[in-house]
Amino acid sequence: MSQRLLPGTTPAQGPRELTLGVMGGGQLGRMFVHAAQTMGYFTAVLDPDALSPAGRVSHHHIQTGYTDPAGLQELAERCVAITTEFENVPAQALAQLAASRPVSPSAAAVGIAQDRAAEKAHFVRCGVPCAPYAVIETQAQLDAVPDNLLPGILKTARMGYDGKGQARVRTRAELQEAWASMQQVPCVLEKMLPLQLECSVIVARGADGQCVHLPVQRNLHRDGILAVTEVYEGNLPPALAQRAQAAAKSIAEGLGYVGVLCVEFFVLDDSHPQAQGLGGLVVNEMAPRPHNSGHYSLDACDISQFELQVRTLAQLPLTPPRQHSAAVMLNLLGDIWPANGVPAWDQVLALPGAHLHLYGKANASKGRKMGHLTFTGASAADVRATALQAAAILGIEAF
Ligand code: ATP
Ligand code: MG
Repeated sequence: MSQRLLPGTTPAQGPRELTLGVMGGGQLGRMFVHAAQTMGYFTAVLDPDALSPAGRVSHHHIQTGYTDPAGLQELAERCVAITTEFENVPAQALAQLAASRPVSPSAAAVGIAQDRAAEKAHFVRCGVPCAPYAVIETQAQLDAVPDNLLPGILKTARMGYDGKGQARVRTRAELQEAWASMQQVPCVLEKMLPLQLECSVIVARGADGQCVHLPVQRNLHRDGILAVTEVYEGNLPPALAQRAQAAAKSIAEGLGYVGVLCVEFFVLDDSHPQAQGLGGLVVNEMAPRPHNSGHYSLDACDISQFELQVRTLAQLPLTPPRQHSAAVMLNLLGDIWPANGVPAWDQVLALPGAHLHLYGKANASKGRKMGHLTFTGASAADVRATALQAAAILGIEAF
């Protein structure tokens, strides 16, 4: 039986509200809400923050904690299907919602993505190489870490994002100290790899198993936070891009995934001894939701990652997205806000192909994602040139 949730009014029933729900009210939820509303759905957001970016634009905002029984019950009652925008939403809350409503992605898939150790085990099961690593939950496991994982990065198994919950360690003494400073919570130690560049692939998989993907994104991180995404022909060697796409699809299929999934990869510097034997491309991590590196799809593709999320949730047909413009996206962090005022948007918007997206956040603090700016154009050279001009205007380091 089809579970398709077709939007809009039926003449017989008169106006009806078909409401799609989202757990989490951040910018990803806000852009999901925009996409759902464009297609005629009503929306409900569950987020404790009265001023959450998505809550402020949604028809309904249920302002409770993610595990609040009354909040979850109200969300389930209001909505015909529910998704998530925030990977640290407790998987248990999704499981609870799934008892009465279709929920995608599933609590099981989100649960795996929430735990770096489970996530890496899944990559290994799918035959996709990741950085050599060790799980550290006990002192004995720490003591048994092989020498070749150092220098490495110690990452908390749960709740990390934007480089938080990570420490770079060179020696066993530093490893011991870093684990102590993380209160000895479960961690993974990853070998520090020589990165040539980073990329990501966004796939959308329907309940019927159909899978489509966006073009491969080339990403630049600064201080553990995404800074720039570049998407155009030739951003990566085509053979590498194809391998990344195939790997992302097999990771989604291995999870029986329904929804939008982003898989992040490292492209290694093959000439470096630390990269030997790893095959040039390794998976870093996955996000069970749309991703910052896919924001360009709003302006440069005929179907955005958020429309893909709506389509998978409502079980609408998936067609392969087509990129119609070269694109460069700049993240707009709180760092670029002047003390008294706003950045020079007028100068930036005077550049051709500029698309400004601000998330409606009240306070611009350091490292906080306030918005993004995508440049679209006919060629890679065009969009790089305009994006570099914008970066200079805004005080963002050139790339
Ligand atoms: P987010 O979820 O916001 O993407 P995160 O906090 O989960 O970030 P990671 O993706 O694990 O963090 O790491 C952040 C960045 O640190 C990577 O994009 C990469 O630039 C660098 N990094 C992480 N692991 C390694 C590694 N093993 N070798 C070299 N660099 C790494
Ligand atoms: Mg990451």
